[in-house]
Amino acid sequence: MKRLLLAAALSYCTLSASGMLRAYGEESGLRWYKGNTHTHTVNSDGDSSPDVVARWYKEHGYNFLVVTDHNFVTDVQGLNAVFAAEDRFLVLSGEEVTDSYEGPEGGYAAIHLNAIEPDHVIPPAGGASVVETTQADVDAMNAAGALVHLNHPNFHWSYSAGQMAAVKNYHLFEVANFHPAVNNAGGGGYPCTEALWDSLLTRGIRMYGVASDDAHHFKESGPEYANPGRGWVMVRCAALTAEEIVSALDRGDFYSSSGVVLEEIRFDGKSLTVRMKEERNLKYTVSFIGKGGKTLAVAYDNPAVYVVKGDEGYVRARVVDSNGRTAWVQPVWTK
Ligand SMILES: [Zn+2]
Ligand SMILES: [Zn+2]
Repeated sequence: MKRLLLAAALSYCTLSASGMLRAYGEESGLRWYKGNTHTHTVNSDGDSSPDVVARWYKEHGYNFLVVTDHNFVTDVQGLNAVFAAEDRFLVLSGEEVTDSYEGPEGGYAAIHLNAIEPDHVIPPAGGASVVETTQADVDAMNAAGALVHLNHPNFHWSYSAGQMAAVKNYHLFEVANFHPAVNNAGGGGYPCTEALWDSLLTRGIRMYGVASDDAHHFKESGPEYANPGRGWVMVRCAALTAEEIVSALDRGDFYSSSGVVLEEIRFDGKSLTVRMKEERNLKYTVSFIGKGGKTLAVAYDNPAVYVVKGDEGYVRARVVDSNGRTAWVQPVWTK
């Protein structure tokens, strides 16, 4: 899909030129759509067919799925023809462009990027450094009309914040990939993925955080398997079409979650409001974070409201419930 097509869909959705989100609600004609943007099938190293995989997500309350096999684009037309006769569920085409860089001293970087709705299969480009290889892949993905997200930056400790910042023309990355081998939490002196995110945002780079399953295993389950249902995005737009979903992701009109459900996210230039859907007897802690990864405020109210002072640079929010499940709210920019 070409970006020109996306431009036509922009008018339906919610982010104005000033970066303000308008209120979500029935009257706005907008809905939240639940989806996973990173899934494997037998077309690479997954254990199940695209049909079985898509059906798992449909039957577990998702609205859409992006099938992203390694260096392979699965044809999703047949799947969508089947689902069109049932409840609304959409399969988007995708590819995990799977590249790598091995340095002269033997270091290994896994350079994996998801292309959502590419026009064609994008082969890994290769290159003379991590940044050069990633940039060549990003350029090829953009040329194929795809939306790009950079995957699991801490897998093999492949990226520093400086390397991520040096690559241009992408603005989605996986802040939470739920494959068991990807080191989201950092450690041993390496930053966690949220710290990488804050480093990019502090440099003034527009970057949105995606949560995904990176699911491979639908037949066996356990902490050592890459199972479905662990991390997803909730995308806010007017209709369940590939154009609307891609366009909303592109604008950052979504939040990411491992379980917390949000009903409203609103930024009017003066305050950022986050309203949780309260479940059972859970308690919520909302941290508002700004420049340098600094915690600006912690709120326990619902809705949680942060009033902008003007010198934050950006404000994003992390909502954690009393069972440790998280929602990541995308950044907004202050003056
Ligand atoms: Zn990967
Ligand atoms: Zn993957």
